[in-house]
Amino acid sequence: MKIDVMGVRFDSCTLDQALDRAMAMVEDGGAHYCVTPNPEIVYEAMHDPAFCDLLNGADLVLPDGVGVVLGAKLLGTPLEARIPGADFAAGLLPRLAAAGKRLYLLGAKPGVAEQAAANLRARHPDLQICGTADGYFRDEAAAVAAVRAAAPDVVFVCLGAPKQERFMAAHREELGASLLAGLGGMLDVFAGNVRRAPDWVCRIGMEWFYRLLKEPRRFKRMLRLPKFLAAVVARRLRGR
Ligand code: UDP
Repeated sequence: MKIDVMGVRFDSCTLDQALDRAMAMVEDGGAHYCVTPNPEIVYEAMHDPAFCDLLNGADLVLPDGVGVVLGAKLLGTPLEARIPGADFAAGLLPRLAAAGKRLYLLGAKPGVAEQAAANLRARHPDLQICGTADGYFRDEAAAVAAVRAAAPDVVFVCLGAPKQERFMAAHREELGASLLAGLGGMLDVFAGNVRRAPDWVCRIGMEWFYRLLKEPRRFKRMLRLPKFLAAVVARRLRGR
């Protein structure tokens, strides 16, 4: 079921259901893509209809960020669960390994995807990582061709928003993979350069605050979170 949060239509499901659907897409072939918008990204989409269309054009739209879940609740249409992109990515890995599917890691600074691949291979010895590349390519066509040549089933596209959504929507067919997943800074996490917040911090919905403390440069971007919530409340008061 889809739930509209300020124009972005999220899939309302559990993490397991999202993983089942993702694996069905991988098995099905075709050229699917998945996005994981947080409130900052929804706020951007509220002001950029073309970007909003890219998000809504995805085959899976997962609510990353407690603010999206809160927004849906305030609008009177609660989502089934919050599905952090990090949990979705981590949950896909053993399933891809078990199914013998090929994964390509695209994004982050030079060397990060390689380090992420080494760490993931150590954790999931059966996982087939068929290629890696950094996300600061000048020649987009060459980057697309390199992915295609590696013949992946799944690509983790970690270029940050909105670059990764534009990249996935523009090149989904040429990339040749069954599933593209836009996962922001996940390769930095897999590489061990950035730590996720401890579980208890996530449980109380304060992961955003942990990230702000760890990466103060995010402050300006994070100002969109209260703006997003203010817009939600205004819409609710107007009676939608
Ligand atoms: N990035 C990239 N190419 C670019 C810009 C960014 O590969 O042209 C990478 C960046 O190095 C980082 C990720 O995209 O690994 C974005 O991380 P961030 O935490 O800002 O993204 P979020 O998850 O918040 O969208």
